[in-house]
Amino acid sequence: MARAPRVTTQPGRLIVLSGPSGVGKDTVLHELRTLEPGMRYSVSYTTRAPRDGEVDGVSYSFIDESRFRTMAERGEFLEWAEVHGHLYGTAEARVVEALARGEDIVLKIDVQGAAWIRPRVAGAVFIFLMPPSEDELRRRLLARDTEDAASLDLRVRNAVAEIAEGAAYDHRVVNDDVRRAAREILDIVRHRRSEGV
Ligand code: 5GP
Repeated sequence: MARAPRVTTQPGRLIVLSGPSGVGKDTVLHELRTLEPGMRYSVSYTTRAPRDGEVDGVSYSFIDESRFRTMAERGEFLEWAEVHGHLYGTAEARVVEALARGEDIVLKIDVQGAAWIRPRVAGAVFIFLMPPSEDELRRRLLARDTEDAASLDLRVRNAVAEIAEGAAYDHRVVNDDVRRAAREILDIVRHRRSEGV
């Protein structure tokens, strides 16, 4: 049954960006924000440990599971999900405030989070970043070298299932070249703006 949307994106736009682990979401997002400095990014909360170089409050807000569960019980997340064995969530207040200021804001979330948001947020645009091929995705994950063997294997298996979910998105963008992919996403967002949605 269709639910009434809980959040409307006006006057800003909510851009939901998903894609399998290793596809290059962070790099494309960084490029997108270089091309369009006004583009906001919603920093998620996670129970995963920080990787080398990740900064608390910039990459993620890193919190423990009990604090995460408390926030979830209080309804502070627009959406949350368990991904690759860790909890990840989007703070509703951060998103709603940006949209109310008329800013465009990107959520970099998994397919479960996107499926949760789809019926609840009117006017959001859903973009799925695709790898040029499954082999190339495995190669990028290996090159990233941030995962142990079990975690890498889990991410590759999840990736295959996630790619199939891309069909549910408004747009699929192939990350064959970072700048090209970022420009394609920007074109999608600008088109939305010009249509006033
Ligand atoms: P990573 O651990 O590699 O940073 O992220 C793993 C996965 O979690 C990625 O697919 C990423 O998009 C997803 N993710 C990050 N933040 C959130 C969030 O707030 N909600 C959901 N549902 N997924 C998230």
